[in-house]
Amino acid sequence: MTMRRDAALNPPAAVAPKRHFGIPRRRKAGAADIFHQHNKTDNCIDWPRFNVNFSGVRIISSIAAMQQLAKKWQCSGKRIGFVPTMGYLHAGHLSLVREARKRVGKAGRVVVSIYVNPTQFGPKEDFSKYPRDLKRDLKLCRETGVDIVFTPGDKEMYPALECGDMSPLSKRRHVGALQNFSTYVVEEQLSHTMEGASRLTHFRGVTTVVAKLFNLVLPDVAVFGAKDWQQAAIIKRMAADLNFPVKIIVAPTLREPDGLAMSSRNKYLAGDMRRQAVVLWRSIQKARSAVKKSSKSIPAARLKADLKRFIEREPDTPSRRRSGAASARLDYVEFFEPDTLSPVSKVTRGTHMALAVFVGKTRLIDNAPL
Ligand code: AMP
Repeated sequence: MTMRRDAALNPPAAVAPKRHFGIPRRRKAGAADIFHQHNKTDNCIDWPRFNVNFSGVRIISSIAAMQQLAKKWQCSGKRIGFVPTMGYLHAGHLSLVREARKRVGKAGRVVVSIYVNPTQFGPKEDFSKYPRDLKRDLKLCRETGVDIVFTPGDKEMYPALECGDMSPLSKRRHVGALQNFSTYVVEEQLSHTMEGASRLTHFRGVTTVVAKLFNLVLPDVAVFGAKDWQQAAIIKRMAADLNFPVKIIVAPTLREPDGLAMSSRNKYLAGDMRRQAVVLWRSIQKARSAVKKSSKSIPAARLKADLKRFIEREPDTPSRRRSGAASARLDYVEFFEPDTLSPVSKVTRGTHMALAVFVGKTRLIDNAPL
């Protein structure tokens, strides 16, 4: 198996490898949740085994090379499926890759971008320590049938200073500090609540980088995860408003067997924290069961207060009591219309719930329909 960096414009191998895009058996639990079944643990996840036989995945880090290749594919009528990620891939990401492949077919091309986008992190957030493992990501992409892994660099994505060391960009990743880059894409309706209220410039960074990536990869189909529900809604709106000729697909959230939504940030969770992290999923279940039991709608304010109490005292494990460690802390919980993201004052079946919780220093998010 070979991996080629920036080899996109090389002629393809003479004999196309056989590819198998099987999907593992998964248990459905609710419209937007898939639980991952595994036997062995590797950072909480055991990767599904596939009957794969690939000659390799091409790695492109140059913006010009990516755009040229995408244009070439477009001209020859190849459909392009795209999965933007920040890397440190897990089975949730790979499920998006499989969805992209399903949409474009064997004759199409699937591109995964791996880019930890500095402009979507706030100055006090985890940009510099965000988990990265490109070698492992490439192996997973190769095993899942990705054609191109696109790994642009900060210097090309956000031309900052004309000379001098850009690294670590994190030191002045504050968007205002970037010189030679001054155009942002801002969605103005859906971006103010929930994640947008807690992370002020987050969605500006997301819409900007996704717009840039769409211009470079020229996808026919782009797949996003329901795990980031608000993000997916904003991207859909951006694509419609700015006439990007791309179909946005939102694929279900993949979960660990105990319900924790898979996330690259789960790597931060050790020992008790990992156990505490299930409180997000338990909160969703608690809200679901309250809605199911109630014959009429439930005031959102009351349910929010109940969930805050529930989250901030759960789970009270003996070792946490011994260590005096803080319990989970609710950042926000919101109930809203799934499409418009408009908050509702009365919660009923079909209302969507999203929450963000600090477990230690790790901020986790989750959401689901009730
Ligand atoms: P990230 O690498 O965290 O930026 O995520 C890249 C894409 O993967 C986004 O569209 C996420 O919504 C999606 N994603 C993240 N976690 C999951 C998950 N557990 N299940 C499905 N998709 C996910």
